[in-house]
Amino acid sequence: MDIKQTVVIEGGFWGQLKLNTGETIRINSPEGSQVADFWALDANDTSKFLSTEHTRSTLEKLVPTVGDKLYSNFRQAMLTITADTSPGNHDLLMSACDPQRYELLGCTEYHRSCAENFCLAMNETGHVANELPSPFNIFQNVSVKNNIIAIESPNYNQGQYLEMRAESDLQIIVSACPMDIALTNGPDKKPKRIVLERFNT
Ligand SMILES: [Zn+2]
Repeated sequence: MDIKQTVVIEGGFWGQLKLNTGETIRINSPEGSQVADFWALDANDTSKFLSTEHTRSTLEKLVPTVGDKLYSNFRQAMLTITADTSPGNHDLLMSACDPQRYELLGCTEYHRSCAENFCLAMNETGHVANELPSPFNIFQNVSVKNNIIAIESPNYNQGQYLEMRAESDLQIIVSACPMDIALTNGPDKKPKRIVLERFNT
């Protein structure tokens, strides 16, 4: 494995990288129990992006697993999941956390959010975020029972990871979710680091 790039994202913050066709990205939470909100956009046309609703519809699954592809809003295959050493709890249902979410949870002061992190990342590359795609929430443990959706504490160990191979040239944005009120990032409610590695297999 020839690692070409490593991006370390502190808990609550964001990082991004370009992923060329055929390259693999590994998303790792070295300290355990940390959700990574993940966006993929066409590197040449950001109006084409990873769409959770189109992925659910195409796969006819709530949670993708190894071998599954993730699809764009035009149903193009953007990524293929090639490895997953976690228990496989990932989420295609929930929106990114945003300032309104924190207000609803009782925050009266500024709070970082995945929505803001996405916009900051887009601005860094000179793009305007005209819309906020719903992220692929890696390591997010969401249960669906009797028509009730609940975010539960992640149940995986330090160092477990997910790998995906790019099916086209992509801009990848990841937010190490800053949630410190709900159980999203574990019972300690402490945002932790996420590490991205880009390599050829
Ligand atoms: Zn978040």
